[in-house]
Amino acid sequence: MKKFSRRDFNSTLAKGVGGATLIATTPLACAMGTNQDRKKLGIALVGLGSYSTYQLAPALLDTEYCYLAGIVTGTPEKEQVWANKYDIPKENVYNYQNFDEIAKNDAIDVVYVVLPNSMHADFSIRAAKAGKHVICEKPMAMNVEECDAIINACKKYGVKLGIGYRLHSEPYTKEVKRLVKNKTFGDIDYISADAAYRSMSNPEQWRLNKKLSGGGALMNMGVYAIQSIIYGTGENPISVSAQEYSTRPEYFKDTDETITAQFEFESGAVGSIMTSHNVRANRLFASCQNGWFELDPASTYIPLAGRTSQGKLNFTQESQQKLQMDDFAKHVLFNNPNIAPGEMGKRDMIIVEAIYESISSGGQKVKLDFAAQYGFGG
Ligand code: NAD
Repeated sequence: MKKFSRRDFNSTLAKGVGGATLIATTPLACAMGTNQDRKKLGIALVGLGSYSTYQLAPALLDTEYCYLAGIVTGTPEKEQVWANKYDIPKENVYNYQNFDEIAKNDAIDVVYVVLPNSMHADFSIRAAKAGKHVICEKPMAMNVEECDAIINACKKYGVKLGIGYRLHSEPYTKEVKRLVKNKTFGDIDYISADAAYRSMSNPEQWRLNKKLSGGGALMNMGVYAIQSIIYGTGENPISVSAQEYSTRPEYFKDTDETITAQFEFESGAVGSIMTSHNVRANRLFASCQNGWFELDPASTYIPLAGRTSQGKLNFTQESQQKLQMDDFAKHVLFNNPNIAPGEMGKRDMIIVEAIYESISSGGQKVKLDFAAQYGFGG
């Protein structure tokens, strides 16, 4: 952990004059009255693929409570490129083999696991053992058993655990949660969520390989749709029935292409989701007793948009990843609420498993009895 002065000075001046320590004592910062010491957590990204490269690392240049302190990569060529680009010292660069030595590195407070799903549990548990707080990407793991193993390891080693559910920090999603909590439009009768994109070009990608992904569209975009119907009702579902459709079996050889599922909620609300690797859709819609609300798109990185029966929603957009990582850092630093805890990732995996179970049984209704156990209906 480092003490920094105001982040604006960090991000602007650090690039030009070579470092935060210098900035913290720069006369300009003092003269402008910005020299309020602020702790920033050091984050190490594990896995430098597309999400780390294009979303997380750029967002970490703007975060106020954390910064990119280290990297863990299995690709040696990336080490120097990233070290140069983000001013990462050599001692904060790891590979998958020497990763456990991160335990000795005080500059790293949080390990952020951004690897294929099959590697989430292993690296999250190793990070916890190393005494580092953990952010684990979605879906949390390959199955519920692995989710439990991650949660237990974080408890055992006394570290905090968050899931990379960026939307809980995003203003349109927060507004949906507020509308639901306040019952602005009365009870919800029907909720629907679609989260899907068209995978065209690379049948070799890990997302289509069940050993690495654990499943197809459902494990990828499906968790967003599941999340949407839960924060869109403020309730955990009590049952699910599901169907799977395959229209391009030659491309989707190993994983699910398109899944639909219907949910019941204790309040009497009903819901449905669609997720796919072969359809473009991204939307959340709720029909309520006295109106409706909608996000479209509902889970992309590009600005979300929304409307209600009372009119258009209008919020300023910032990087969702910046907001998410700062929220987690504030949880670690100030004990603010953990808005996407491991138990939430596990709850979603219970639902994923129930959906697969329903599909295998020909669409039969599977009961979900965890509603009271997990208080994350938001
Ligand atoms: P990616 O394919 O772009 O990157 C994967 C990284 O893992 C690469 O650096 C690759 O070198 C490394 N890797 C190590 N072992 C590998 C193996 N056996 N096969 C393939 N790659 C291997 O993937 P990504 O889009 O960066 O996704 C990584 C994780 O982040 C996934 O769990 C994904 O679900 C999650 N993700 C989350 C969001 C979000 O909005 N929260 C968005 C994108 C991805």
